[in-house]
Amino acid sequence: MVINLSKEHSLVSNWIAEIRDIEIQTDRMRFRRNLERIGEVAAYEISKVLSFKEVETQTPLGIAVSRVLEEQPVLTTILRAGLPLHQGLLNYFDKADNAFVSAYRKHDKDGTFEINLEYLSSPEIDNRIIIISDPMLATGASLVKTVQYLREEGEPKHIHIVAALACTIGIEHVRRNFPKAIIWCGDIDDELTAKGYIVPGLGDAGDLAFGAKVQS
Ligand code: URA
Repeated sequence: MVINLSKEHSLVSNWIAEIRDIEIQTDRMRFRRNLERIGEVAAYEISKVLSFKEVETQTPLGIAVSRVLEEQPVLTTILRAGLPLHQGLLNYFDKADNAFVSAYRKHDKDGTFEINLEYLSSPEIDNRIIIISDPMLATGASLVKTVQYLREEGEPKHIHIVAALACTIGIEHVRRNFPKAIIWCGDIDDELTAKGYIVPGLGDAGDLAFGAKVQS
C-alpha cells in the first residue's frame, strides 16, 4: 500500500514545496526542520494504524482510562540523509528503539552504481514493527538492501517505509520485494535521471541537509 500525504490538503504540501525550492534550500536549518516536520506528520499518520491498549491513569481528581501504544516500533534510518526525517519520527515515537544503517552508492565509470552497506546498529527486530525512513525513495535499491540486511537479524512483523519524496520506479521496486510493506510519502514524482536522481525532486537531500561531501 502507498499513502501519498500530499493527496489531501495539509501543511505537508507546504513543507514539500519548501524543500524543493532552490532559494529556500539555501537555509539548511529550514531544510532539515521541514524534513523533520514531514517525519512528525508521518509518525502521527502511522500511529493511526498501530495497536493501542487501555491503561488506567491516576489524575489529581480520579482515575482516567486512556489508550496508549501497545508496543514500541523500531525506527530505522539510512545514514546520513535519513537523520532529519528519523528525528521527526523519533520526536513523536519518543520511546522507540532505533536502528542505523550506513549505505552509499558506489558509482562505476559508466554511470551505474551499486549500493554498499557497511554498518548496522540495531536492536532485536524479530517480530517487531519497523519504520524505515529514507528522504528520497529513488530507485529503491538502498531501501531494499537495507531491509534485506536487517532481515538477516530477524523477521519484522510489519514494515512501514517513510519517504519525503518517492519516485514511482522506486515504489514499484520496493513493492515487488516487500508487498506487505506500507509506504508513506510526502509526494510522488515520476522521473529518475540516469544517475538515479528524482525529477523534479529536490537534488541531493544529504548535501542540502548537511553540506556537500567530497566522495562521489
Ligand atoms: N538521493 C537524493 O538525495 N536525491 C535524489 O533525487 C535521489 C536520491
